Amino acid sequence: MKVAVFSTKSYDRTFLEAANADYEHELIYFEPHLNYETSILAADFPAVCVFVNDQLDAKTLTKLASQGTQIIALRSTGFNNIDLNKAADLKLTVVRVPAYSPYAVAEHTVGLILALNRKIHRAYARIRDGNFSLDGFLGFDLHGKTVGIVGTGKIGAITAQILNGFGCQILAYDKSPHPDCEALGVKYVSLSELFAAADIITLHCPLIPETHHLINAETISQMKTGVMLINTSRGALIDTKAVIKGLKSGKIGYLGLDVYEQEGDLFFEDFSNQVIQDDLFERLLTFPNVLITGHQAFFTVDALKTIASTTLANLSKFEQGQPCPNQIKAEAL
Ligand code: NAD
Repeated sequence: MKVAVFSTKSYDRTFLEAANADYEHELIYFEPHLNYETSILAADFPAVCVFVNDQLDAKTLTKLASQGTQIIALRSTGFNNIDLNKAADLKLTVVRVPAYSPYAVAEHTVGLILALNRKIHRAYARIRDGNFSLDGFLGFDLHGKTVGIVGTGKIGAITAQILNGFGCQILAYDKSPHPDCEALGVKYVSLSELFAAADIITLHCPLIPETHHLINAETISQMKTGVMLINTSRGALIDTKAVIKGLKSGKIGYLGLDVYEQEGDLFFEDFSNQVIQDDLFERLLTFPNVLITGHQAFFTVDALKTIASTTLANLSKFEQGQPCPNQIKAEAL
């Protein structure tokens, strides 16, 4: 099928081209993000393939449908960037990659926890500068600490397994407890109990209306002073202004982010020679106890191989008129 592939980087092409040997779709790559303005590029493409920062709002979907698009293939697990109700109204099929490598994201999450705790990112710079002082690098043993996991789906459950290996006590909040977590002895509690007891809180729930700004001034006030907060899920789970206040007061002792609410204007691009205009993001960068990566938790060879092959298989199923288990519908919200 003829597919307009948006937001493509060289690594996307490499993995999609390799996987396409088995599927033989006609893949046409576009570097820009998909939004209303760029949707004209997809004219006459029955399939459109997108990533996390493409904007599939009602206006863009209407335009795509009017131009002949029939299927939207997300190269991601999250689907917060698409208006599923509008897609259903327009009879657009939406498919995603429900699991590519939950290990990739869980391992990156634990990487952020370790680096923030032991200041590995700062030590790297200090040692290269010939400064061997340990001042400011005091960490804590992870062993025996309480970790609160919000959302124990595929990624949250693996994060729990890894942290269990460190000897952490694990609390979790999820409406559907994961059997692997229950077998591990993870204790399911209410969200407020989790906030009150956890030394480290890590977010692995989807971004849906119910979880938008889940971390806000009120919920931060319920947390332990000096808490470590990690978000590798979606930026808008966190109210950034409230978190900045929490960092300034010392309520939040550590912040590790792989995602950011306004990341669509920044992430995956090189702005090293420009003045970044996002003042909230720039304020975050001034804190010594904040570590940010640019939505790279998914970025492993294993994950990119699976993203490419699952996306192309989803498109083939649609083309052949077969049911696709990776189709998402408005009820998923
Ligand atoms: P999943 O669907 O397997 O698990 C999500 C879990 O969250 C489910 O168990 C669900 O019951 C739970 N949940 C739903 N609403 C909740 C709520 N209000 N409070 C608490 N829990 C709730 O998804 P997954 O594969 O584990 O992925 C989790 C999230 O990770 C995705 O939604 C995506 O946004 C993010 N993600 C980020 C990256 C990255 O590179 N940073 C990569 C992949 C996925």
